[in-house]
Amino acid sequence: MIELKSRQEIETMAQAGAVVAALLEYLADLTRPGITTKALDEEARAFLRAKKAKPAFLGYRGFPACICVSVNEEVVHGIPGEREIRHGDLVSLDAGAVVDGFYADAARTVAVGVVSPEAQRLLETAERALAEGIQQAVVGRRVNDIAHAVQRLVEAEGFSVVREFVGHGIGRAMHEEPPVPNFGPPNIGPRLKAGMVLAIEPMVTAGRPDVEILADGWTAVTKDHSLAAHAEDTVAVTDHGARILTRVLDAQRRGD
Ligand code: MG
Repeated sequence: MIELKSRQEIETMAQAGAVVAALLEYLADLTRPGITTKALDEEARAFLRAKKAKPAFLGYRGFPACICVSVNEEVVHGIPGEREIRHGDLVSLDAGAVVDGFYADAARTVAVGVVSPEAQRLLETAERALAEGIQQAVVGRRVNDIAHAVQRLVEAEGFSVVREFVGHGIGRAMHEEPPVPNFGPPNIGPRLKAGMVLAIEPMVTAGRPDVEILADGWTAVTKDHSLAAHAEDTVAVTDHGARILTRVLDAQRRGD
């Protein structure tokens, strides 16, 4: 069953979303050569505490950190640790927060210094695919219209979309119905209604789409070790179109 959110609930989710967006902006700025992924996680923990928001990922099925940091061939769910960020890395930062019982989830991929032209194009393709998917998140379309739009854009660039992980409904839980894939034919799946809130999250690889999970039980990497990029927003379907909830509000920036 797909739970529809009230207007008030969507406003609460927008509060959570603003915290996540501000956190990701803050972390993106810190993602420079020499910082460890663990230090980024510690910054995230402090940031969320200061905003009185609960980290959504910490403890989720035993996940040991507040954020996921996935570098280069890592696609998603990288566990922060002693790894140091290096010049030329492509770093996906994924974060979630809970405010007044409601979740928001988003991810950005950051180019550290100057990256290869292909890496830059991959990052931009993930962002453009997300934007394309969001355009389909309107009343009357179907879930797979999002999926199809994402896949079409990504494959037109000569890249691949990951199949093993998909976007999801979100609300009082981080993962709700429906699943939101990044591939497949259009015009199938549940019809979109006002009040649905979806985490749309294309995961794009420069090579083949296949991934495997490392021995830590979490980190997903491309099987062919090709680069990956990830972009995600939490989006409400409203009577006035798609509303991105994971947007920075000035009042949420650190230091206010
Ligand atoms: Mg997600």
